[in-house]
Amino acid sequence: MAVIVKRAIFALATLLVVLWIVPSPEPQPPVREDRLALGTLVTVKLYGDDEAMTSLFPLAFAQFDLADSLMSRYRDDSEVAAIERAGGRSVVPSPAVHHVLERSIHWARACEGAFDPTVGALTRLWNFPDATAVPDSASVDSALALVDYRALVVNEHGVHLARADVRLDLGAAAKGYAVDQAVEALRSGGAQSGLIEAGGDIRYWGEKPDGHLWRFGIQHPRDPNRYFEVEDIGLSAIATSGDYQQYFLKDTQRYHHIIDPQSGWPARRLISATVWAETAMDADILSTAVFVLGAKRGLELVEQWPRVEALVFTDTAGGLKSQATSGVQGRFRFVD
Ligand code: ADP
Ligand code: MG
Repeated sequence: MAVIVKRAIFALATLLVVLWIVPSPEPQPPVREDRLALGTLVTVKLYGDDEAMTSLFPLAFAQFDLADSLMSRYRDDSEVAAIERAGGRSVVPSPAVHHVLERSIHWARACEGAFDPTVGALTRLWNFPDATAVPDSASVDSALALVDYRALVVNEHGVHLARADVRLDLGAAAKGYAVDQAVEALRSGGAQSGLIEAGGDIRYWGEKPDGHLWRFGIQHPRDPNRYFEVEDIGLSAIATSGDYQQYFLKDTQRYHHIIDPQSGWPARRLISATVWAETAMDADILSTAVFVLGAKRGLELVEQWPRVEALVFTDTAGGLKSQATSGVQGRFRFVD
């Protein structure tokens, strides 16, 4: 009897050792495709059968091409350009452009114009990403006089500019919109889980097949080799706006592509703003808004809105300082 018990214990111990040292099977990596679209690098990762998932990539990239053709500020044949050319007459836009304009006006009001879809005269003057020189302040002031989101009217008849000289720029919303549309297209095509990243905008859906939680790395605003890692906080869209992607230095001052519509000059309160929301378009718009508003007002406003969170960085004499809304506090850390 004692021998049987001993053998049983031995067998069990051996089995446990074997189970311990046999590694669990490697989780299936996602299928991935990278492409330049909307002026940025777009990465799509899908979990599931390789062949089936690979066949879905064109669905996603078609959405980026569509957003580009409708909303790009670099194209004269876009719908946005047609609204400008109409010189105050009403234009009936596609449902896509109608939706982005409506949401843009909604957020422009909510954030007191810190995000402003009519910032186009200023962004054309500054001319990022090709900018190399600081415009003179008289030109900044004349462009600033053409910025007014109240002049962009969207109603059941269509869209018009109440002031014909106002210029549009959907550069802070179009990428997020395209990400949302691409996610919808992939889901209806049968992709049960995956992730899209487009130049700082991320959206993910479904469960990872290995059961692991989603985790994200967001670039350190001053050191491209370092990241801060953020946990999944249950909001599946994340966007970051920073002063380190499109900028030039002049007399030690950094000039970059996010313009404060109050002053006409690049916003200086923060060096990076990350926003979580339910859609990539909202996150995209609001990361730009919070970047302009700064830590105090930006976090105060975000804290009031349900299902939106934010994390911001300031460059202080003592180093990088982070501040976050209540839903993100303690949920991120720097990794080397
Ligand atoms: P990125 O495009 O680098 O991800 P953002 O989402 O913050 O960064 O969008 C910045 C773009 O939005 C600029 O390139 C410009 O086209 C436009 N833009 C700049 N300032 C503003 C602003 N205050 N409100 C709305 N759009 C802006
Ligand atoms: Mg943005």
